[in-house]
Amino acid sequence: MFEISFKSFFLIFKSMKVDYIIVGFGLAGMSFVKRLEDNNKSFIVYENSSQTSSNVAGGVYNPVVLKRFTPVWQGTEQLKLALPFYKEIEKKFNTVYDFKIPTYRIFKSIEEQNNWFAASDKPKLSSYMDVNIITKKYNGIIAKSGFGKLNHTGRIDTKSLLSDYKAHLKKEDLIYLESFDYTGIEFLEDGVKYKGVSASKIVFCEGYGMHKNPFFKDLPMNEAKGELLTIHAPELDVDFLIKAAVFVLPLGNHYYKVGATFNWHDKTLHPSQEGRDELIEKLESFITVPYKIIEQTAGIRPTVKDRRPLVGIHEKYGQLAILNGLGTRGVMIAPKVSLELYKHIENGSALDPESDIKRFKKA
Ligand SMILES: Cc1cc2nc3c(=O)[nH]c(=O)nc-3n(C[C@H](O)[C@H](O)[C@H](O)COP(=O)(O)OP(=O)(O)OC[C@H]3O[C@@H](n4cnc5c(N)ncnc54)[C@H](O)[C@@H]3O)c2cc1C
Repeated sequence: MFEISFKSFFLIFKSMKVDYIIVGFGLAGMSFVKRLEDNNKSFIVYENSSQTSSNVAGGVYNPVVLKRFTPVWQGTEQLKLALPFYKEIEKKFNTVYDFKIPTYRIFKSIEEQNNWFAASDKPKLSSYMDVNIITKKYNGIIAKSGFGKLNHTGRIDTKSLLSDYKAHLKKEDLIYLESFDYTGIEFLEDGVKYKGVSASKIVFCEGYGMHKNPFFKDLPMNEAKGELLTIHAPELDVDFLIKAAVFVLPLGNHYYKVGATFNWHDKTLHPSQEGRDELIEKLESFITVPYKIIEQTAGIRPTVKDRRPLVGIHEKYGQLAILNGLGTRGVMIAPKVSLELYKHIENGSALDPESDIKRFKKA
């Protein structure tokens, strides 16, 4: 029996109309798509697998900067939205993606312990930072000055989440696994046309892919490549995230993710020997048990010069919008900025000036 898919049907008749075209399906694109599905908007997605950031990410969420013991920018507000957001996706696909894991920060000195005490008393931090210093010894971990414990932290399994979401879109024929061609956009009075499909808006969520986008490439991205190792350490038996020179994140069955590096020069996506050596050296500065490296991965974080997201509508082409600049904390930021952009487009509500791309408007 001859069967024709929904997508092929429209490709043949070239008359498809949707509310949105989304370019890129990392954490930014997925979060915006969820907003669209929640509001019964029609859309199609383009995804070309050119970037890996959301797939390789540690997926950690934590509203405290563990170098200085200060609050993460809008961390509490972001988490308030993010945790229910991921819970809803868990329900949608009947799977667990959010693993609640406390974080243990290894103190380098007594001075750091004192700084922790002082910070744990502050209003924005007290519900996360446990005031008691942990002095318990754990096999294979060097922590002479003990640990500070952070509560309400965890890991989103971004790889499984994106893979399941993509499978759902494929089933519904809503995702095209190909590159979006910027030269193919036809501008209409009330929208755009791309390859025969009309839409009111295109939302670009390309991560570091933005540098190829002729409409937004001049925004000041200051991307940072990151690399991670997955190790198997049978004698290391902890169910908390260890934060020292690098983080060691438990995945279960004595598997751990170790990361991450920051490289501001290398723009390739390949795992490097330099990255591997750096991670091993830092890991072995506080872990003494034997381990085997199982995998090494790399991605480019779409970091912005002022460390704030890139959200908004193009100054000249009102049909084009951007959701990018999630930097080092996509898991926490994406649910909030996707909602803000959606409400901005649909209801005209104001964007947060700190995220709005208008801040880069030339005087
Ligand atoms: C090593 C590493 C560790 C990290 N750890 C954490 C962590 O623990 N916690 C945390 O919150 N964040 C972490 N991050 C940061 C986080 O991964 C990013 O903030 C987030 O992934 C950015 O999501 P994005 O959707 O904006 O970009 P991306 O994930 O890069 O997604 C963009 C998508 O657009 C697609 N695309 C681009 N151009 C085109 C085109 N022309 N046509 C079609 N498709 C296109 C790409 O293929 C890609 O899938 C980490 C990042 C790295 C690299």
